[in-house]
Amino acid sequence: FIKETKCFLNIILDELFAQFSRENSADDGIDFRVNKTLSDEETLVITEERKLRQILSNLLNNAFKFTSSGYIEYGYHLIDNNFLEFYVQDSGIGIQKEKQEIIFERFRQVEETFTRKYGGTGLGLAISKGFVELMGGQIRMETQEDKGTTFYFTIPYKPVGSEAKIIKSTNKKNYKWDDKLIL
Ligand code: ATP
Ligand code: MG
Repeated sequence: FIKETKCFLNIILDELFAQFSRENSADDGIDFRVNKTLSDEETLVITEERKLRQILSNLLNNAFKFTSSGYIEYGYHLIDNNFLEFYVQDSGIGIQKEKQEIIFERFRQVEETFTRKYGGTGLGLAISKGFVELMGGQIRMETQEDKGTTFYFTIPYKPVGSEAKIIKSTNKKNYKWDDKLIL
């Protein structure tokens, strides 16, 4: 079910950055970066915070699992003022062309033998895709074997600031800031 709250995107990104830096301190040599393109105030949004955190965690988990050197970068851009496009980019092993469709399916992995090198259950991307779609967005991927992979996903951009403005202009008579702003 849907549970939207107000939250600061930049804070979520910073917290994930701290967590993944801590957990992957052994992977030195990887340049790990976060790219925040809006001011902190502009990232006060209405969204399903837990789903968003889960999607980003799943993608960052994969990025660290499949990258042994180079860099991992994640961040977001605002598109047409009404969608946020997040990305998680790595310089890891990449994904073969013929596998690019199946990895979003449940329990599917590029290497499906019992002796495979990388652990996991093959659920992370299926869950992420489901969550993105429930939130009204789309997920896609660009990858090149041995060069790296970038996952992109969109969600609607619902800043608290503009929400307040819209309510104000459509409901001038008995407008009460607090009543309308709290969701
Ligand atoms: P789980 O997430 O359940 O622990 P998993 O990581 O294997 O297991 P998914 O996150 O769904 O499952 O990813 C499916 C498969 O897609 C991976 O096993 C891997 O083969 C491929 N894959 C996903 N992300 C990347 C990436 N960044 N680089 C290379 N391959 C990837
Ligand atoms: Mg995974």
